[in-house]
Amino acid sequence: MLGKLKEKLGSFVERVSQTEISEKDVENALWDLEIELLEADVALETVEELKERIKEKLVGQKVKIGTNKKAIVENAVREAVLEVLTPEKRIDLIELIRSKGEKPFVIAFVGFNGSGKTTTIAKLAHWLKKNGLGVVIAASDTFRAGAIEQVEEHAKRVGVKVIKHSYGADPAAVAYDAIQHAKARNIDVVLIDTAGRNELNRNLMDEMKKIARVTNPDLVIFVGDSLAGNSVVEQAKQFNEAVKIDGVILTKLDADARGGAALSISHAIGAPILFVGVGQGYDDLRPFDEKWFVERIFG
Ligand code: GDP
Repeated sequence: MLGKLKEKLGSFVERVSQTEISEKDVENALWDLEIELLEADVALETVEELKERIKEKLVGQKVKIGTNKKAIVENAVREAVLEVLTPEKRIDLIELIRSKGEKPFVIAFVGFNGSGKTTTIAKLAHWLKKNGLGVVIAASDTFRAGAIEQVEEHAKRVGVKVIKHSYGADPAAVAYDAIQHAKARNIDVVLIDTAGRNELNRNLMDEMKKIARVTNPDLVIFVGDSLAGNSVVEQAKQFNEAVKIDGVILTKLDADARGGAALSISHAIGAPILFVGVGQGYDDLRPFDEKWFVERIFG
């Protein structure tokens, strides 16, 4: 996992460590680092941000003879990555759900088809149940053939009820019904599975906006496939313009050798990564911890 990003950042550390930490050396090494990070699918603006932070930490540092320069440089890169990954606002999901005065707490999931959205909703339902919370799922993807059966199948396996209408029905009406169902039965959380499509067109945007208007979700979570690299960051930006994204779940991190999407997405849209998908099983959902991610790159 994340082998490529580790290799790129590692080779940068090697190069700077063999020279004095002067502005020119750092500039030269940063030039190479920029190309390497872009190859690892890190978004351009995140690369710029990382470079600035590394430069600030290193240039002008007085290094005594005998000091372990490699350790100093590695530390600067590590700190810069950690800073870029650290969200401005952290979300403790269980705390947030419990602190809402009334039930249910409503979470809408958005993302493209194939990103792992349905599996992720089932994983999160399973995780919430393990944390003692009652969950119901709204099958609001009434557009894609098979979507309702798919979410029902997952929900059955994790023991959660699904509220559904027929295909072609108004997705916002399904979500509304699920909320009424939860209210009547004192269920803690409603998870809304929205339609994905393959591109963010006008229809999909209007649908998202309508669901948001009707259900007034407490959280909007963008589900993105980390294997899509830079384009998942672009998708997140587009969804963020249509409906404000509060948090991100990145799927398939177990298969991601580059790590660029994980490193860029939070910085690009200003919303934290809440969880990462690390496999196909229902337990393969990990609360995201930037220190854990940094350890995976450098450890
Ligand atoms: P949707 O179209 O966005 O609802 O996508 P699905 O939930 O159907 O997932 C698409 C595929 O990705 C399925 O084969 C899932 O098992 C797989 N998948 C989802 N999350 C992960 C993950 O974290 N790791 C791996 N390896 N596969 C995943």
